[in-house]
Amino acid sequence: MTPPSNEAGQSANALDNLLTESRTFPPSAEFADKANAKADLAERAAADRDAFWAEQARRLSWTAEWDQVLDWSGAPFAKWFVGGKLNVAYNCVDRHVEDGHGEQVAIHWEGEPGDSRTITYADLKDEVSRTANALSSLGLVAGDRVAIYMPMVPEAIYSMLACARLGLTHSVVFAGFSAEALRSRIDDAEAKLVITTDGQYRRGKPAPLKAAVDEAVAQTPTIQKVLVVKRTDTEVEWTEGRDVWWHDVVADQSTEHTPESFDAEHPLFILYTSGTTGRPKGILHTSGGYLTQAAYTHHNVFDHKAGQDVYWCTADIGWVTGHSYIVYGPLANRATQVVYEGTPNTPNEGRHWEIVQKYKVSIYYTAPTLIRTFMKWGADIPAGYDLSSLRVLGSVGEPINPEAWMWYREHVGANRCPIVDTWWQTETGAIMIAPLPGVTACKPGSAMGPLPGIGAKVVDEAGVAVGKGGGGYLVLDQPWPAMLRGIWGDEERFRDTYWSRFADQGFYFAGDGAKYDDDGAIWLLGRVDDVMNVSGHRISTTEVESALVSHAKVAEAAVVGATDPTTGQGIVAFVILRGGVEAGDDVVKELRDHVAKEIGPIAKPRQIMVVPELPKTRSGKIMRRLLRDVAENRQIGDVTTLADSTVMDLISSGLNKGS
Ligand code: ATP
Ligand code: MG
Repeated sequence: MTPPSNEAGQSANALDNLLTESRTFPPSAEFADKANAKADLAERAAADRDAFWAEQARRLSWTAEWDQVLDWSGAPFAKWFVGGKLNVAYNCVDRHVEDGHGEQVAIHWEGEPGDSRTITYADLKDEVSRTANALSSLGLVAGDRVAIYMPMVPEAIYSMLACARLGLTHSVVFAGFSAEALRSRIDDAEAKLVITTDGQYRRGKPAPLKAAVDEAVAQTPTIQKVLVVKRTDTEVEWTEGRDVWWHDVVADQSTEHTPESFDAEHPLFILYTSGTTGRPKGILHTSGGYLTQAAYTHHNVFDHKAGQDVYWCTADIGWVTGHSYIVYGPLANRATQVVYEGTPNTPNEGRHWEIVQKYKVSIYYTAPTLIRTFMKWGADIPAGYDLSSLRVLGSVGEPINPEAWMWYREHVGANRCPIVDTWWQTETGAIMIAPLPGVTACKPGSAMGPLPGIGAKVVDEAGVAVGKGGGGYLVLDQPWPAMLRGIWGDEERFRDTYWSRFADQGFYFAGDGAKYDDDGAIWLLGRVDDVMNVSGHRISTTEVESALVSHAKVAEAAVVGATDPTTGQGIVAFVILRGGVEAGDDVVKELRDHVAKEIGPIAKPRQIMVVPELPKTRSGKIMRRLLRDVAENRQIGDVTTLADSTVMDLISSGLNKGS
């Protein structure tokens, strides 16, 4: 076996460095000139970190100033802005109205069937106040937990903000999850109320939703009320005394509500991670530090300008991205944003571009899975719309393959818009690693470096930073304001999961592999659990996938390591071909050779299987553990968090025919 081309000598690396990328895209002079973040931001953060974060916290309105920026004496449990008091919802809503911006649109809401609503900040203040009054009338008091199980309707956002306003801790559960997933999350958090809808639109058709709540709640001892928004006019079963209609209890409430101040460390929400790797964890976030970093990053990473930009984050509120970059960050920054209820191909594959054109969206933030889907659908679709309003593009959720980045830049961003690849997690609460669009010369596929005020490094097994060109484990070496404050009800799991791997150094271990390139830019290489070991070489799934996606015939690829008698593990690739390409032995050979040429013979897949679909979580991430089961001819594991559970049958049946 030939060693990989450029890393043969670096045995200290926990991960080999295979793929190189030389293209760079600096911001235009004009963009740089007008950008919110200039190069001095990093200098200020480096000079005095506490003072820097205090300066960021002043983006918000506090009713009591903090006495201490950070108390890390109880590490790994952080306290930020100790003694400070604020109301999160007041910061996201009321203060903008008081500042004279009540008529500014907060939300251009677009329903899947084509209905729409325009919600100004004044409207938002009224709706959130009504909702808060209603929740109080149902008997909820600060500290109680509320489960929110709703599609992307405005009432979901009112509900989150009303909870924040009252000091209730919300736990949003993605409305595509099952009754069982909802039940376990309700029980774990001991929620008293669930807010839901009668039904939800999915790919153009109404589907029941409350039915799942009925099933879940039948077995949860803590739920007292179920609050139901009418969305689809779907028939529902009704339990008198427990179930209440939104239009009965919210509509008539007063639009006046005085927000109470809460401690900076008051719990704001619990959010269960998506379960890409296993049993979900209830990640706890608090108020002051979280909102500070959400607002700071939204302002600087997206270069957001209040009153000018139209911002659109395509996430669902069921994920952390929807919390930090639909609800809290943008609203704290007085954004005008688009919120879209439905799927990207309803009624056709141009839906997103039609919305960009309609509302003149200027900042668009989405996930690599969707970008690769757009690639598969073809560049002629975005080309049919006026996308000239766009000026910043963002990506989050998975490593973005360089070819997908280039496609996004060319076919969506007209080779003009900076692309910010943002690395962060449910646990980090807000963006941690990303370029600053007016400062950084971006490389396709790299999240570049930690933001000013954030400490992140790539280290080896021993916790020592690897040098330029080296690969290893991504760690966060300093506490940050939006960091999780624990796993709900499980202190030990919190310490074990994140703080035990590099306990001596006190690093937070993110679970992701990463490398530095020769210029010191950070490249995320997927989860450490997915790293393959081929003849002693530690190879990241991401790099092999990116090599495959760089071939003109490939739309998507997922790679896993399967046990191999000679090499320890062998690389098995699952690929989706682009429209019109025929599967066959020729293509497979061509792709194997292509990978060898792109990143070296060591990474040549042992086997390539052409498949129609890949197994993904509801948030669009590839579930490699299921593919590993296929590659190793095992019974397929737990598929409950899959977006489409029939995908595994499709893959298995195709393989049995032999490919
Ligand atoms: P679970 O922790 O339950 O398995 P999850 O990790 O998929 O689920 P999230 O917190 O939504 O849940 O995702 C965070 C993870 O997503 C990161 O740890 C990383 O693996 C990946 N990720 C997010 N953004 C990026 C990015 N820009 N580049 C590379 N990877 C990313
Ligand atoms: Mg995770």
